[in-house]
Amino acid sequence: MSSSLTTVQWLLLAVAVQQSIFAAAWLAIERLAGQAGRSARFWALFCGIGAASVTLLALRGVLPDLLGYLIADFLLVLSAAAGRHAAALFFERPTHAVEQTLTLALAAIGLLIYGSDAELDHWRVAVVCLFTAWIAARAVWGVHVPMKAEFGAPLTWGLHMPTLLLCAGLIWRGLAVFVGNAAALEYRNPDLVNESLVLAMLVIMSFLSLVYGGMLMARLVRRLRDLALRDNLTGLLNRRAAQQLLEREWASYRQKDLPFCVLMIDVDHFKRINDEHGHAIGDQVLKALATRLQEGTRPSDHVARMGGEEFLVFLPQTELTSAQAAAERLRQHVATWTLDIEDLSFTVSIGVAQATPTDRAFDDLLIRADRALYDAKSAGRNRVHLAASTDTAPHHLAATASAL
Ligand code: GH3
Ligand code: MG
Ligand code: MG
Repeated sequence: MSSSLTTVQWLLLAVAVQQSIFAAAWLAIERLAGQAGRSARFWALFCGIGAASVTLLALRGVLPDLLGYLIADFLLVLSAAAGRHAAALFFERPTHAVEQTLTLALAAIGLLIYGSDAELDHWRVAVVCLFTAWIAARAVWGVHVPMKAEFGAPLTWGLHMPTLLLCAGLIWRGLAVFVGNAAALEYRNPDLVNESLVLAMLVIMSFLSLVYGGMLMARLVRRLRDLALRDNLTGLLNRRAAQQLLEREWASYRQKDLPFCVLMIDVDHFKRINDEHGHAIGDQVLKALATRLQEGTRPSDHVARMGGEEFLVFLPQTELTSAQAAAERLRQHVATWTLDIEDLSFTVSIGVAQATPTDRAFDDLLIRADRALYDAKSAGRNRVHLAASTDTAPHHLAATASAL
């Protein structure tokens, strides 16, 4: 058998092996892919059905014609449909089941009509190529908008490239058969165009799976980063994220001397809310407060949950007097608010501090804001207190101050 196989057939078998390996890999990854798991399963189907189709294609002349032509061709269209389904699931878009079924049915009818008559073979090739190209183009069209939102326009076009190249190749082949090149009708023929096409297929199919894997990885990394930097309950930045943000702002404050302030906010008598209404209601109050704090601040400000019922608002490019006014607004915003949840109302106390040259690091700034908050609590709660400008670790500060 081996002696009768042409170079193109061997190349097609190489594509089949490659796609089978990809299919196995995507099936193995399915469980790790989280929400994209179902999409990974269909991507595995895309690769697996593609591998079956290309194997049958490679063995034309060896296998019965029904397998080598009709079934091989239909499997190619089916593989494209699985790929489109995977892409739609990945981006949580409609899967267009009716359109997909109709497209597959029309392709099957076309193949049945033209596939059994050697005279009409160019029509069979046109049917398989143009239907596959249509499905691939619809896949790109269907995910373009969410893909651009997730990965940005330049990367999206880059990611579309292998599919669009594949479409162009298929359309070209689907039409070229009418222009009378006999070799183009039959892959098996040792024709340079056929060999180049199959080589291109080998490369493009690798790229397609790489693109899919890259998108999956980028999404998983983003989710992990979100998990590491977001607070579970409220979705706000967590303490670690707030520290990273403060470190960055601190560096730019040192370089450019741009003023910035922090507000340390703590719910008054939160324990009572938990005790009287239960922990679950306490959680809902914290979530609602997080939204309230975000609504009450500028888009350039950052709100973080530092733990428990304690929040930090970070105000870039803000002087102490403006920060005090912002804190007062937030305090009133909370105090005059009755939640939908059990008609609850509560208050917050706020400590305000501005970064000063005597702070050795942002930790000092946080300590001063904390002390101001503690003063606000001691003075009766539901109030805003300003931090003294040099309020931390007196010995070190004295040394720093005298050095300056
Ligand atoms: P103060 O006015 O002095 O701040 O009094 P407080 O009761 O708010 O402060 P305290 O530190 O005594 O209690 C804070 C409470 O917050 C105790 C803790 O059980 C509760 N808490 C911390 N994290 C959560 C959370 O994620 N959900 C809920 N429901 N409660 C929490
Ligand atoms: Mg409290
Ligand atoms: Mg507290």
